[in-house]
Amino acid sequence: MDAGAVVQKALDGVRLTADDLLVLWSCNDLTLLAQGGDAIRRRKNPDRRVTYIIGRNINYTNVCWVRCSFCAFYRVPGSHDGYVLSTEEILRKIQEMVDLEGIEVLLQGGLNPRLRIEWFEELFRSVKDVFGTRGVLLHALSPAEVRYLARISRISLEECLVRLREAGMDSMPGGGAEILTDRVRNAISPLKDTASEWLDCMRTAHAVGMPTTVTMMYGSVDTVEDRVEHLVRVRSLQDETGGFTAFIPWSYQPDGTELGGHRAGAHEYLKTVAISRMALDNIPHVQASWVTQGPRIAQISLDYGCDDFGSTMMEENVVSAAGCTFALSVEEIERVIRAAGYEPRRRTTQYHLIERTEVGGSC
Ligand code: SF4
Repeated sequence: MDAGAVVQKALDGVRLTADDLLVLWSCNDLTLLAQGGDAIRRRKNPDRRVTYIIGRNINYTNVCWVRCSFCAFYRVPGSHDGYVLSTEEILRKIQEMVDLEGIEVLLQGGLNPRLRIEWFEELFRSVKDVFGTRGVLLHALSPAEVRYLARISRISLEECLVRLREAGMDSMPGGGAEILTDRVRNAISPLKDTASEWLDCMRTAHAVGMPTTVTMMYGSVDTVEDRVEHLVRVRSLQDETGGFTAFIPWSYQPDGTELGGHRAGAHEYLKTVAISRMALDNIPHVQASWVTQGPRIAQISLDYGCDDFGSTMMEENVVSAAGCTFALSVEEIERVIRAAGYEPRRRTTQYHLIERTEVGGSC
């Protein structure tokens, strides 16, 4: 089967196999791939709107013992420039976000051996006590953080997730997926969770009623076969649980990392978006990564399958540590979306639309 026939298969509503996805990855006809990605996007999200959320990324600690070779953000325990933000500092940052009509706190950090479950429970309760009535949502941690937290707190994964949820955690970002094959994980993050452990953490989160997103970081040491395996494993788990709200592909950012290497280009990003949109027939949304690709490429990705522009972020410390420094205000995000012929709409973490009000702040 050639790429045209595979795209037609997707348009006919037939699920693509791993072999089909390999055929698409061998195709360099971006126009053809865009046709497929855009058609599936329109089927799933027929309105010509592109959503985004006003939110803030807060990295509560950069201390981490895992030493992933692709990461330029972490500091090993004992480093002079390792930090843990105080509750007061985190609340101050959230207040700044609320002042700009923000609602989503994306709270992530390293695997810090000094922070146990009680630290997170107290923090989350403080956030909800102060900002719960303002509609602030905690989109927090990631499978690697939650699994480690359960381990050092000597509780089960399920108990850990239930306690975090009861303390105020609303949802979990799909960070740390990188590529869900052990070949890649052993090469770039051998001390981190395995592909099965990552997926099992998401399975448990979905089982206790906590929705999540899912990411894919491509372009480090992965092959197209690895990417296909990643997509197929994500799709299988979604068949089982239905708990993923959005898929977010982004390219490896090499600057300042031990792994080094090259930054994947725009062609590869747009191709990845289109193929992912066709492959993941059971995930409602695909998010553009303007933080790693810049606003221009993110804008073009709206015609390849993306229907969401993610968060305003306000600050970002992880990919910026790897040399990626794009920043956009609410007005710029709306302008970029409108210029591509779509209507920008604000949303919650769970993709409920919220009514527009004029926002004058910048991030
Ligand atoms: S990617 Fe996450 S787990 Fe790996 S070193 Fe960086 S902070 Fe630690």
